Amino acid sequence: MKVIGLLGGMSWESTLYYYQELNRGVRERLGGLHSAQCVMHSVDFAEIEKMQEEGDWAAAGEYLAHRAQQLKLAGADCVLICTNTMHRVYPAIQEGLDIPVLHIADGTADALESAGVQKVALLGTRYTMEQDFYRDRLTARGFEVLVPEPEERARVNKIIYHELCLGQVLDSSRDTYVRILEALAARGAQAVILGCTEIGLLIDEHTSPLPVFDTTLIHVHSALDWALGT
Ligand code: GLU
Repeated sequence: MKVIGLLGGMSWESTLYYYQELNRGVRERLGGLHSAQCVMHSVDFAEIEKMQEEGDWAAAGEYLAHRAQQLKLAGADCVLICTNTMHRVYPAIQEGLDIPVLHIADGTADALESAGVQKVALLGTRYTMEQDFYRDRLTARGFEVLVPEPEERARVNKIIYHELCLGQVLDSSRDTYVRILEALAARGAQAVILGCTEIGLLIDEHTSPLPVFDTTLIHVHSALDWALGT
C-alpha cells in the first residue's frame, strides 16, 4: 500500500472526516486490522482563510506548496489537498512536486460520468461556486454546471465558514440547503456535487432531494484506488 499525504486542516472538521473514511475504506477493502498508511500536514486554517479573503492566492499557493513538499519528505507517495477551494492553487502545488497531487474534481467527474449525469448542481464556498478554476475543470469534461442564485450562494458560503468549519451542524441550515437544492432541481440539475469537504457533515443521500456526489468520499476512494493499485 502506498502512503497517502494529506494536506489538511482546511478545516480540521473535514480532515477528521477524511481520516476516518480513509481508514474505513481500507478496512472495507482489505479487512482485518488493515488501516490506511498516511501522513498529514494540518495547517492553521485562520491563516489560509485570511489569504482567501485578501485574494492573495499566490501566497496561499506558496504556503501550501511548501507544506506539500514537507509531506513528500515525510514519506508521502501522493498528496490530497483536503479542500475543494484550495484547488484554486493546485497548479502551484503540483508544479514543485514530483509525486502526484490527486485533483478532487477529477474523481468527481469520473463518478458523474459513470452515473450518466450531464447537468449537475455545485455547492461549495463562494470561491468554488463563482470562480473558474473548479467549474472549468468540470465543463472541460462536458458537464453543465449549475450554481445557486447570488443570495443563496452567500447563504451556502456563510454556513460553511460560520458553522460547518467550526463543527456546528444545524437542522435549520440543513433545511436551507435542501430548499436551495430543490430550486436547483427545478432548474434541471440531475445531481449535486457537495463541492466543499464539510458539506457531507450536513447533508447526505438521505436528506438531499438530489443524488449526492460527496467530494470528500470520492477523493478518499480515488486515493485508495491509487494507493492500493485497484
Ligand atoms: N473545506 C472547504 C472546501 O472544500 C472550505 C474550506 C476552505 O476554504 O478551504 O472548499
